[in-house]
Amino acid sequence: MTDDAPSAATRSPWRELAPGIYLLRTAGFRMNVGLVVGTERALVVDTGAGPIGAAEIYSHVRDVTGLPLLVVNTHAHAHHFFGNGYFAAQGVEEFWATSRCGTVQGETGEEQRTLVAAVEPAMGAGGGRHTDVVPANRLVEGTPVDIDLGDMSVTLFHLGRGHTDHDLLVGAGSVLFTGDLVEEGADPAFEDSFPADWIRTLGKMVALEDLYDVFVPGHGEPVSVSEVITQMNKMRSAVRVTRLAMDEASLDVTKAIPILPYGPEQSRALLIRLRTLAHWNWLTRKH
Ligand SMILES: [Zn+2]
Ligand SMILES: [Zn+2]
Repeated sequence: MTDDAPSAATRSPWRELAPGIYLLRTAGFRMNVGLVVGTERALVVDTGAGPIGAAEIYSHVRDVTGLPLLVVNTHAHAHHFFGNGYFAAQGVEEFWATSRCGTVQGETGEEQRTLVAAVEPAMGAGGGRHTDVVPANRLVEGTPVDIDLGDMSVTLFHLGRGHTDHDLLVGAGSVLFTGDLVEEGADPAFEDSFPADWIRTLGKMVALEDLYDVFVPGHGEPVSVSEVITQMNKMRSAVRVTRLAMDEASLDVTKAIPILPYGPEQSRALLIRLRTLAHWNWLTRKH
């Protein structure tokens, strides 16, 4: 190590993916936070699981820029937006998400508190400073929204159902923040997902490969388009295998779990989700 190599204490936790576009891996849920810095404003992608995590993120943001901030929430899972209250207390006024995300944040926020209790006790208990659930207040409807940060523009858009029914993507330069539509180092999370739509949405994302070189997942390392294609193909075969098992009346569908390309937990989640959605479809057809 040379004398001018940064020490562990001074090394920035941010990784600069492109000029003015940064990535921070948070503790706890190991969630990826994005930061896009213009000449007039800066934009933060996702705020963490509560005030403890958000305070850390905010302090790291302030090491990079003192500009006014906007926040984007990729989706309404607690560990991506429960830091909004802390950011609001720091004077942030604009919280962007899809309109459906804003609704889900408002409707499910309170019941999601238990999910973060282990890493954010006050947020989990719903008491203490900056523990309010703050839903998005700037809503992206059907069409993409461009936000000018000053010599840097970001595009917010929704490509269809997938990890949830309201995932928002954030394009900045050659970098695309995908939220949990893409996972790296872990299986995709199917609990609130629409698996068949998710495959199509990943296909639309892949079609953007001329625009974006770096795809930043909600968790894990940034990936290239080839890894998004791999995830899409794996999901297609997993959905196919699960549906075959569901159609085969004599077969116990849980027997499909070992042959799915995911670990037991997410294989089971995929199975339960496909069964639930099939049941919903059956109900809406019959009644
Ligand atoms: Zn996540
Ligand atoms: Zn999620």
